[in-house]
Amino acid sequence: MPLEIVTVPCLKDNYAYLVRGPDGICLIDAPEAGPIIAALESRGWHLDTILITHHHHDHVGGVEELRAKYGCEVMGPKAEEARLPRLDLALVDGDAGGEGAAYTVALAVPGHTLGHLAYHFPNAGAVFTADSLMALGCGRIFEGTAPMMWHSLQRLAALPPETLVYSGHEYTAGNAKFALTIEPGNPALISRAERVAASRARGEPTVPSLLSEELATNPFLRAGRAEVKAAIGMAGATDAESFAEIRRRKDAF
Ligand code: ZN
Ligand code: FE
Repeated sequence: MPLEIVTVPCLKDNYAYLVRGPDGICLIDAPEAGPIIAALESRGWHLDTILITHHHHDHVGGVEELRAKYGCEVMGPKAEEARLPRLDLALVDGDAGGEGAAYTVALAVPGHTLGHLAYHFPNAGAVFTADSLMALGCGRIFEGTAPMMWHSLQRLAALPPETLVYSGHEYTAGNAKFALTIEPGNPALISRAERVAASRARGEPTVPSLLSEELATNPFLRAGRAEVKAAIGMAGATDAESFAEIRRRKDAF
């Protein structure tokens, strides 16, 4: 049985994801309960597990209402346990569970927050990255350092290129505008920016995205490339320095 993944728009521009596998239904992040309950009820589904990526309110605001309604198990990063709703299972890097297509590995991807986890479903070719790697972007560095975030992105970049990346926000159109300031002549980026604009004009989500496409177009994954360093006037800089400069420019964009 393959995974069935449902994208649930929440709040202003967040995404939660329902994942239906052979051992039940799990939710990646709970920005708010209402749209998630509606998505479950319209399918006749019961929620078994919530996997939390990080402590920000726009990823956990719906946890308690969902727990009260479904009695689901809540799992999330042990490193952020003190700032999270009560965890039934506190996870660290490398923790794994689930069967078949739902087999899941927690990956530590600190930077946006210090305990941020991504959830990799290797048998299904999917990774849920929330505010670490995003479509054409990455999360702001609120708690970590640029070298830490760069290392986290490198871990995600090393997954199989056919992996589908499910990130936590619909920021892609703005990210595309910024990416074009870094690599205005990148043909893959130009064509992706056009497709993103067309999807948004139709009101469609731009997630998930293919990791291979992120590698070809996302300036934050491409910071180590010589042509990108040259384009930002940082030939000779380390990869992490180049990444830090691109992140700094995006913060000011
Ligand atoms: Zn966040
Ligand atoms: Fe967020």
